[in-house]
Amino acid sequence: MDADGLEEHCRWCGDGGELGGCDFCIHSFCSRCISHNFGAEEYRKITGDAEGSKVGQDGSGENAGAKWQCYLCDQEPLRPLQEAHTAVLTALQKVTQAAPGSRSHFSVKQREELEVAFLACSSLSGARRLELASKVGVTEKQLASWFSNRRSKAKKEREVSVS
Ligand SMILES: [Zn+2]
Ligand SMILES: [Zn+2]
Repeated sequence: MDADGLEEHCRWCGDGGELGGCDFCIHSFCSRCISHNFGAEEYRKITGDAEGSKVGQDGSGENAGAKWQCYLCDQEPLRPLQEAHTAVLTALQKVTQAAPGSRSHFSVKQREELEVAFLACSSLSGARRLELASKVGVTEKQLASWFSNRRSKAKKEREVSVS
């Protein structure tokens, strides 16, 4: 922190550099982050570099109109960004939940069918894989990974019963 008690690192990316400091709290935001999120014009407004920056209408002089509330003091400008962020997160979660390869995503019925198929024959030929995948309602990749997990489980069980 410098003498003014302002943070010397950007609140968002943690880098120093060209910072715009809040006039109401100690937080600073770098030109890169501000420009990235709100455009270069916004950063010029904050630092008061904009040409013809307005003089306070009350005529009080002292940097009137140059005061800037940061994105923690005034979150209004951030709202659309946060909403977009939430939407992205929600979409990502959906994708993650639907990700193939996790056994727990199979229903009980699917697992039963897989078990029966495995006991009938533990190897998967290309044709059988295709047929079984559509019958059970999983992708071929899920099926292959289930079978390979199941085979290693069976192998472990054999090793235990032999010893
Ligand atoms: Zn930054
Ligand atoms: Zn602030």
